[in-house]
Order: sequence, then structure tokens, then C-alpha cells
Amino acid sequence: MKNVVLLGSTGSIGTSTVKVAEDLPNDIRLVGLAAGGNAELLAKQARQFRPELVSITSPEKADELRPQLDGIRVTSGAEGLIELATLPSADIVLVAIVGTAGLQPALAAIRAGKDIAVASKEILVMAGEIVMAEARKHGVRVLPVDSEHSAIFQCLGERPSESVRRIILTASGGPFRETPIEEFVGITVEQALRHPSWVMGRKVTIDSATMFNKGLEMIEARWLFDIPMPQVDVVVHPQSVVHSMVEFIDGSIVAQLSTPDMCLPIQYALTWPSRAASERVQTDLAALGRLDFEAPDIAKFPALGQARRAGEAAGTMPAVLNAANEIAVDAFCDRHTSFLGISDAVGQVMDRHEVITQPSLDAILQADEWARQNVQDILGLGQPTL
Ligand code: NDP
Repeated sequence: MKNVVLLGSTGSIGTSTVKVAEDLPNDIRLVGLAAGGNAELLAKQARQFRPELVSITSPEKADELRPQLDGIRVTSGAEGLIELATLPSADIVLVAIVGTAGLQPALAAIRAGKDIAVASKEILVMAGEIVMAEARKHGVRVLPVDSEHSAIFQCLGERPSESVRRIILTASGGPFRETPIEEFVGITVEQALRHPSWVMGRKVTIDSATMFNKGLEMIEARWLFDIPMPQVDVVVHPQSVVHSMVEFIDGSIVAQLSTPDMCLPIQYALTWPSRAASERVQTDLAALGRLDFEAPDIAKFPALGQARRAGEAAGTMPAVLNAANEIAVDAFCDRHTSFLGISDAVGQVMDRHEVITQPSLDAILQADEWARQNVQDILGLGQPTL
């Protein structure tokens, strides 16, 4: 039985995690839950699982929740997330908060000796070097939740990084894989939100359409598996059945396959090193018939090149890439910029940035803030003040 704290319980990953907890009542106990604003769903989850502690962003909403959740402690804000992340009874903390709010709780959990399961890409993209060093120092595991990284984790086993020639991340290619580059100029928010294989939160769905998502995953993989950036590759695989592969130094490629369902990597992270029986995921290869692979189109998806550049520059550059993209995605969703404007703005912010190597967490957070202000300036949404 693992005692699990779930940060971001009301989101796409959060609700899939709830399904996994329902599937495996003898393996997983939810001892803590945190949400952003969805008090109604948080209350429903809390009544169902009876965790020790729940947290919601606004103190007012926490006040509203208290009388509804007899016997369950309710807290709020950033301190609430830290309290949950360090809950004495927790064995593992699953961080599935969109954006950067999960970074400090993830570090707090590690420092409290907890394993962490990471869905939030921002954690390893922004501070992969620091997070992995802290995890080594405190003797805890950083377990991947993302399907691609879970696949690599499963393919690698305990083999050392020296035995790896290449990590090959698969990408569905998103909704615009077959769209001619000339038509990219007219891509709408509605079109970008239609993902061919996965149902996910808004930010990650737009990131899949631009392939920034894959770019962020390249950087995550670099830190999570201690593999230099040039050895991290991407191949487009539209069926999303091969979740990623590892090519070893002898030329052998090991892959992990299943029909796409986030419950599987979530379950693996929470039950690792064991595997728990579940009927949820069934894969019929004969019915699938074929698996296709193709090289990504770097001209259509400049995000891949930008992510490689950020990963190779390292230091504060990945945080800058991540923050600039986050603001540019919001601007696209609010119709302040075009689809192509997202990577355009990110590229310009990266050009402006002077990388700090081996940065402290403070320097990373400052670079994040600097990038947010600069991308707003570039997009005409405000003036930089830093
Ligand atoms: P969603 O937008 O669906 O959910 C985000 C969750 O974070 C919600 O529960 C939201 O609460 C919560 N939240 C936001 N801000 C705060 C805060 N300050 N404090 C506490 N909770 C907060 O996102 P996803 O579930 O899709 O993605 C979560 C993370 O996982 C992202 O970083 C994404 O890149 C990554 N990821 C997602 C995958 C997917 O399949 N969806 C796959 C792999 C990685 P509320 O709704 O109550 O406001």
C-alpha cells in the first residue's frame, strides 16, 4: 500500500490518478489532495477518499470547504501545497499542477525524503539539474508520469546511462502533422485544441500542436535519465502506441507499447517497482495492423530546434524557453497572437537572454520572471520592467 499525495487532483492527470486509485484500492491510498480553483470536484474527491489534508489555492474557498468536509483538514495557497508535499504519512507525492507552482512543493517533498512522481513538465525543464541533485542527495526517486518518460524508464530498467546510444521520444505529430506549412498562418485556437490521440489540459494540448510539448519532454528526458541532449531524439509516430524507445550501444532498440491511456504510466509510477494487475488498458496489435514512423518536420515545428538549443545551452535557458512559451500560449488562446507567433516570440526571448550557467533556484525563478515580462513586451502586452 502506498500513501499518495496528489497535487492537481482536479485536472486531467489528477482525475486519471483518481481512476487509478479507484482501480487499486489495496495498492494506493490518497492521503492528500490539492486543487487550483475547482472546489466542487475537490470536495467530491475528498468525500470519496477521506484524505488527511486537502488544499485549494484561495483561502476563501478553503473557508467554504471546511464545513463540507468534516474530519478532513483544509488548507490553502502555496503553504498548503508545501504542507501536503511534506505530509508525514505520504510515501510519494504526485505533482500534476500545471505551470510552475509545482516546483517548490516538489523540492520540499524530496527534502522531506519522499519519492516524487512528476507529471508537471515545468519541474524538470526549469530545474532538472537541481531537482535530480537533490533527489540523489536525499536518496529518493523521481518517477516519470508522462507516457514517454515512463516508457523510457521501463525500457531502461536499472541500466546505466553509459549503455544508451540514444533515447527516442515518440511524438504523435499533433493535429497539424499533415497540414502544409503554407496553411500554418491561419491555424485557429479551436483547431489547435483538437488533439488526435490524447485528451489533456488546454496548455499541454496547444503544446502538442506546436510540438513544444515534445521539446519540453526532450529537456525533461535529458535530466531525468542523465543523457546528454545530442543523444535525445524525436520520431513522429501518429498511432501513439509506441510511447518511446531506448537504443542501446549495441544497436538494440527496446520500446514500450500500449493503447494510449494516461492511467497506465500513472499506475506504474505509483506502484513501482511492482506492477499491479489492471484490466483497464488492452492493446490489440492485430487490430491496429501497422505502426508508422517518420522524421519530424523541423521547419513546421521550430519548437523542436528551440528546445534542443535551450537544452544544450542549459543553465537558465530552459526556464526562459518554458516561461516564454507559457505566456505565448496564453496570448494565442486569448487571440493576441497567431499560432506561428508562439514560437516566433519564444525565439526572440531566447535571443535576448544571457544564460547563467549552473544557476541557483532563485536565478532560475528570476529568469522565468524575466522571460514572462520580455515575451509580453515582444507580443505588445506590456513593458519589461526587469
Ligand atoms: P490541467 O490543466 O488539466 O490540470 C491542472 C491541475 O492543476 C488542476 O487540478 C488545477 O486545479 C491544478 N492547479 C493549477 N494551479 C494550481 C495551484 N496553484 N495549486 C494547486 N493546484 C493547481 O492539466 P493536466 O492535468 O493536463 O497537466 C498537468 C501537468 O501534467 C502539466 O504540467 C502537463 O504538462 C503535465 N502532463 C499532462 C499530461 C496529460 O495527459 N494531461 C501528460 C503528461 C504531462 P483546478 O482545475 O482546480 O483549477
